[in-house]
Amino acid sequence: MTDPSSPDGPDPDAPGPPAWHELADGQSVTAQVIGRIYRPGPGGGWWYQLRLPIWAEVQLPDRITVEPDSIVMRVPARLVNPIEGIDYSVVPTRREQPPGSSAAAPAGRWCVQHLPAPAGGPGRRVIHHESCWVPTGNADLTLDQALRELARPGSEACTACEARHLPRF
Ligand SMILES: [Zn+2]
Repeated sequence: MTDPSSPDGPDPDAPGPPAWHELADGQSVTAQVIGRIYRPGPGGGWWYQLRLPIWAEVQLPDRITVEPDSIVMRVPARLVNPIEGIDYSVVPTRREQPPGSSAAAPAGRWCVQHLPAPAGGPGRRVIHHESCWVPTGNADLTLDQALRELARPGSEACTACEARHLPRF
């Protein structure tokens, strides 16, 4: 089992699934999602670590040219939107722990509610916190497992409990 508070950060070289990202000037581009980070404190909450492809100028002995390169940045979750059908369950998740602080994502366990599929449609899966009033059976998932379940296509967060504060993918 992976501890979401593990100090292991996202590997900046590992490929990540694409998502829409809103640039500072309002353009929407696709970027690779390479990490999901819970940051406690003011301005915190869920952030994403993204890799954006760019060109890098290269001076060769006989000419000047460009090569593919990338920049890595962290942005709040509101600047990132999932692409339908993409599986984000592989994105590594971690929590930042500032010294002397115990602030963290909601404590407790989580569960998945399976809803019957409409005729010809895919089934739906709803993620709940253990404190939810919706009867959901055994809540036995860790936060990290709940995030992976939520990241799968066809999953959604309950809007009535702590699950609504989870990142959208
Ligand atoms: Zn719920």
